[in-house]
Amino acid sequence: MPVIPPTKPYRIGRSKTGLGLFATKPIKKGTKIVRYFGPLLDSKKAEEDAIENKYLFELDKRWTIDGSVRENVARYINHSCKPNAESDVKPRKKKIFIRAIKDIEPGEEINYDYGTDYFKAYLKPIGCRCEPCEKKRAKKKADARAERVGLKPKDGRKPKRKTEKLAKDKAKQRAKAKAKMEGEATARGKAKSRRPASAAGKRVKSKTAAAKTLSGGARAA
Ligand SMILES: [Zn+2]
Repeated sequence: MPVIPPTKPYRIGRSKTGLGLFATKPIKKGTKIVRYFGPLLDSKKAEEDAIENKYLFELDKRWTIDGSVRENVARYINHSCKPNAESDVKPRKKKIFIRAIKDIEPGEEINYDYGTDYFKAYLKPIGCRCEPCEKKRAKKKADARAERVGLKPKDGRKPKRKTEKLAKDKAKQRAKAKAKMEGEATARGKAKSRRPASAAGKRVKSKTAAAKTLSGGARAA
């Protein structure tokens, strides 16, 4: 692993998918974090055009940066569909910087959107393992499980049944003890007001993440 001077606001560390780059100091939104660098490959030269690896970063139609060199610390930054940084590509200067698009706290993993081409080639086939995608998957699983065991009301049907049952119980009680009529009325009122907690229509899933992925910068495979 490359040695990172302690003045830098990041370190290489373990992440869920291997290694990743983590903030060691607060990084303000808009800050250039690190340069993505490596040999420039000219697509007009057959031997350079033939180079293939996961770290190729296209500058434009002609030029590509081969970021697979060890010293390129930016290559440790993982992809996220909801990133806290972005790749700022300067084709004319033939440079790429990774820039914070949010305030990043120490300990947070730094990530950026690798773009559609990379996503299709490498991430989609195995399933994206970025945090938002993992969370989405976990929530889906939990929801399915909850619905299966009947913990979660579907269109509020379950709580309604409960209310009905409560009302029936009350009726029985009422028949047994007519003297307590007044108290029952109050209790029934309470039972009726217990409405299902989750209103349908609130659980529409956001499509922002997918849209972002599609509009991401190109990191050619
Ligand atoms: Zn993802």
